[in-house]
Amino acid sequence: MTVPTLSIKNLHKSFADNQVLKGVDLEAHKGDVISILGASGSGKSTLLRCVNLLETPTSGDILVNGELIEMKQDKKRGAIPASIKQVERIRSRLAMVFQGFNLWSHLSVLENVIEAPVHVLGVPKKEAIVKAEALLQRVGLYERKDYYPEQLSGGQQQRVAIARALAVEPEVMLFDEPTSALDPELVGEVLTVMRDLAEEGRTMLVVTHEMAFARDVSNKVLFLHQGLVEEQGKPEDIFTNPTSERFKQFISTVY
Ligand code: ADP
Ligand code: MG
Repeated sequence: MTVPTLSIKNLHKSFADNQVLKGVDLEAHKGDVISILGASGSGKSTLLRCVNLLETPTSGDILVNGELIEMKQDKKRGAIPASIKQVERIRSRLAMVFQGFNLWSHLSVLENVIEAPVHVLGVPKKEAIVKAEALLQRVGLYERKDYYPEQLSGGQQQRVAIARALAVEPEVMLFDEPTSALDPELVGEVLTVMRDLAEEGRTMLVVTHEMAFARDVSNKVLFLHQGLVEEQGKPEDIFTNPTSERFKQFISTVY
């Protein structure tokens, strides 16, 4: 048995008295592409944000490559990370791609991509640039490297965001509805890049409403309902033979 790249155990997250995650388990091995489906408000973003430690879980364990993210109890704030150093180190290897791209608007495309390698990981700037240029080539945007985000289409901005995510050589890539903010004609170019990443064996957690992606690209699908995993399995099994009535309903409304 290999150590899972990411392991989430009995994860709970509440905001005041709103219990959003009620005991989620998830295991991602190297090369897994896991699609996370669920209605709006079911806790999908909160789950990804807990993995990335943008939110602190109320309880439960998260392990990256077998390393437990240490928590401690704070009287005022409840559970908080025990070591900021550990959080920074782990977070720097978990890249997140957001629905709204979240590029730095005052930085050029190239500057966006080298920002984390240079300022977080301490990669020499020259080296970071060479790598960033190769990544921009990959996502088809090398020619736009000196543009600013506002000069790009949404699809191009999202491809820059993916190049930026790749620049830290992430253990796991987290995608939160990466195509939801795009005009329909721009969705394909982003999905194509994501499909390539999947094919080269990247480990990815993808919150998405793109059923074709979930069915054809991911090797595991997880359906969240009110903070719990309601259905999970291989796409070829759960789309053809869903056991949960709620999941059946969900796919019938999304298709
Ligand atoms: P999804 O991504 O599946 O649509 P979210 O994880 O964004 O769902 O939200 C799940 C629930 O958590 C919602 O009820 C939302 O209002 C609540 N929530 C999310 N983030 C916060 C926050 N920072 N503070 C308070 N409530 C939040
Ligand atoms: Mg969300």
